[in-house]
Amino acid sequence: MWNASRFCVSSLRRGHANLLCIVPILGKAAGSASWCTNVGNERGEIVISVLTTSESLTNLKPLANGLVERYSKANQPHPSVLYTDRDCCKVDGDSKYRRLFPQWENLLVRMDSWHFMRRIAKACSNESHPLYASAIFEWDLGDVATLRTAKEGELKKAGVSKPSTAAVNKAITKFELARHCRRRTRGEQETIRLIESLFLNAEYLTDFLGTPLLKEDAFEIWQEEQCHVKCLQDPVNVMLYTQTGTISKGGTSANDVHFQAYY
Ligand SMILES: [Zn+2]
Repeated sequence: MWNASRFCVSSLRRGHANLLCIVPILGKAAGSASWCTNVGNERGEIVISVLTTSESLTNLKPLANGLVERYSKANQPHPSVLYTDRDCCKVDGDSKYRRLFPQWENLLVRMDSWHFMRRIAKACSNESHPLYASAIFEWDLGDVATLRTAKEGELKKAGVSKPSTAAVNKAITKFELARHCRRRTRGEQETIRLIESLFLNAEYLTDFLGTPLLKEDAFEIWQEEQCHVKCLQDPVNVMLYTQTGTISKGGTSANDVHFQAYY
């Protein structure tokens, strides 16, 4: 149960206020309550958790009503985005979660990108989430430029007189990128193009044991999941990052660069 809810938290690390994440979890309690549905907020806190025999609308309605009532009693604006691992979109009519929260008229339902990557990974013999992530997200160029400037300052302070661009890039860690730079979705068409390109390039490749990288039904899986790419896109006008503080980085006061640190 905890591992699954971690996915929820992970997706919401880009979060700001007014986000919800719903993750139904299939449990092992055979013959009893077999579904645990957790709802987390943008801080990774579980705000409600219910055990049900299925994830039908009827079973989840008390959960939804309870949440709506709590927001109302607390006089809080209702969440603007709900991330889920399923039932994000529907060809005909509203998604299940739109129907579950009719009082929250403008609630946007989005698919959690981590779960999407796990779905796509089923088409491959080798899970390569970083590849899919780069097809879905791009770094904010302004944030990256600021980080490069700071890193250059750090290297100069450490005695490297004229660090090259390659040396600066190499010195930036994944942790620093994640901490100081925002990411945003690339847009539906670009993500589809990049994932298709990944699949086409991997079509005839094998790993070092000779196992094909793509499974036989890889393109069928992609065709099935492709419709959700639009559900991954960042909602317009919703701040998905929280500034958690500012730090100085990069050397002397003359070339200090002040960062916004984001969860
Ligand atoms: Zn969808």
